[in-house]
Amino acid sequence: MPNLLDYDLDGLAAWFAGLEEKPFRARQVMRWMHREGCDDFGAMTDVARALRTKLKALAEIRAPVPLRDSLSADGTRKWLFDVGGANAVETVFIPEAGRGTLCVSTQAGCALECAFCATGGQGFNRNLGTAEIVGQLWLANRLLGPAGGRGGGEDNGRVISNVVMMGMGEPLANFDNVVAALRVMLDDHAYGLSRRRVTVSTSGIVPAIDRLREECPVALAVSLHAPDDALRDRLVPINRKYPLRDLMAACRRYLERAPRDFVTFEYVMLAGVNDSDAHARALVVLVRETPCKFNLIPFNPFPRSGFARPPVERVRRFASILSEAGIVATTRRTRGGDVAAACGQLAGQVQDRTRRASAVRPLPMMEVCS
Ligand code: SAH
Ligand code: SF4
Repeated sequence: MPNLLDYDLDGLAAWFAGLEEKPFRARQVMRWMHREGCDDFGAMTDVARALRTKLKALAEIRAPVPLRDSLSADGTRKWLFDVGGANAVETVFIPEAGRGTLCVSTQAGCALECAFCATGGQGFNRNLGTAEIVGQLWLANRLLGPAGGRGGGEDNGRVISNVVMMGMGEPLANFDNVVAALRVMLDDHAYGLSRRRVTVSTSGIVPAIDRLREECPVALAVSLHAPDDALRDRLVPINRKYPLRDLMAACRRYLERAPRDFVTFEYVMLAGVNDSDAHARALVVLVRETPCKFNLIPFNPFPRSGFARPPVERVRRFASILSEAGIVATTRRTRGGDVAAACGQLAGQVQDRTRRASAVRPLPMMEVCS
């Protein structure tokens, strides 16, 4: 039975056309589902009664089921969602003054095996469907209640004003489902979020960055983590396929169509690995022709990671080298650390279909020092 949370507006209109229903019916149902958070066709009062009965028989509105709901002392809230087959993914809500950000997952696990990431260490199970990606926003909106709570967006008066695809998984490795989910998030008949407030974070899958630019440009964050190929090959293995030169060129192409005029480079700070003055200076050279901002993320530890967070003073010095070169560099504050909701700590529950020998395979730190 089709789950209507799986469709963007065009998809829903096509499905309604199959029932010989007009496109405005799709818009009505879209509004009920996403603006009102309604999952009961019977309650859609402005939809003709006969159609409501037909919809009840032919379709469903089914969001992922929350298994656990944790609230951090700093207001960050984390949900664990069942995605079937003994797999669960995590979603995090981060309230801040003037905005509320939802960090959503796009895959159960991740196949890319970045050396410092808990999600990558647990292997890959499967892509999330559009309904499972949009469903995280659908349910968080419902659970957080109407506007007026903490946060509060400028453009739609809801608690969630921003969405970042920075949870579990590599969004651009699940391209079609992610793009359909993005379209729902942006659609005025659904969440009406601004393109500038929806961010896709990628480890750097170059052809998919180009496709995103063509099909659904939103704000782009790229996980850089190293200034040269030798180090990046080890930290972010996808770099062996798409090296820095190609990645930087893709970022510049993306900016021709992007809703923002800069790319955000995420840079996880790993003590003794990628955090020296020399690394910072090499970054300045690397990004010289690419309009960007840096977001430094002090490493968030998890068991057996094999990495450590640098001292605060080191992060500050690193940031100041970038700033002095005219690059805006912010340092991400750790949020939700007490409920393991910080970047890179999301592990959910994943049955690894790739059957790796061990769950977490950290690189020895000495090996990645340069
Ligand atoms: N797969 C995508 C998005 C999810 S990860 C990507 O890699 O961009 C979101 C961010 O958290 C990425 O920049 C990732 O490198 C970073 N991250 C992963 N593990 C981390 C950890 N242990 N501490 C801090 N940041 C981490
Ligand atoms: Fe996957 Fe991103 Fe983690 Fe790398 S950092 S393993 S791409 S989720």
